[in-house]
Amino acid sequence: MRKIVIAGNWKMHKNQAESLAFVEQFKSKIENTTEGREIVLCAPFTSLTVMSKNLHGGRIMLGAQNIHWEIEGAYTGEISGDMLQEIGVTYIIVGHSERRQYFGETNETVNLRLKAAQKCGFKPILCVGETKQQRDAGETENIIIDQLKQGLIGVDQNNLIVAYEPIWAIGTGDTCQSTEANRVIGVIRQQLDNKNVSIQYGGSVKPSNVDEIMSQPEIDGALVGGASLEATSFARIVNYQ
Ligand code: PGA
Repeated sequence: MRKIVIAGNWKMHKNQAESLAFVEQFKSKIENTTEGREIVLCAPFTSLTVMSKNLHGGRIMLGAQNIHWEIEGAYTGEISGDMLQEIGVTYIIVGHSERRQYFGETNETVNLRLKAAQKCGFKPILCVGETKQQRDAGETENIIIDQLKQGLIGVDQNNLIVAYEPIWAIGTGDTCQSTEANRVIGVIRQQLDNKNVSIQYGGSVKPSNVDEIMSQPEIDGALVGGASLEATSFARIVNYQ
């Protein structure tokens, strides 16, 4: 019942030519990917514009990495849902830990962005997760419950994906044990009114650990940073066993 969604988060990587080259290489490697697995590429805005023309009718869905809650206005450096609709985006990552850490994103602004994404018809991917310090202090559950409670006020859970991304596992090669990720994702599910929300794991997912991660019963997909930048590697992840 729960949909499997595997999303690549390219962060601030790849110019237009590199993005198109990736898609060309990647397309042939996902021809036999199991039906029903949703494949998403969350590319930089500049790449989304050219990629949308090349994916038309294809298996790959496009995702953006941010959205502002206003449709237009004096918000230097931001992007609106209206602008993203024009370029064929389906998914939006909201509340990634890098946005929270470096760009002042709070549970309140995450909430505004989630609602704006839904209002424009996008499917938001809400990222939650604890720091190493919070984990060591035994605060993991409380932090995540707080992020969910505040982030999801007024949000439609029928059109939502959650990604559990322990911050200490992002870009470090230090993956969370699959059983522990499964446990925390179970805690997240308990907090949700809609038990059929797809919940991804993110944090150093790679070809060598994806099979084990995806074998866990609570885990409905992956949000993949570093290992999504190379077509062969991301295709192996999407084609997990
Ligand atoms: P990573 O990043 O796969 O490079 O750890 C995941 C993410 O930030 O979404």
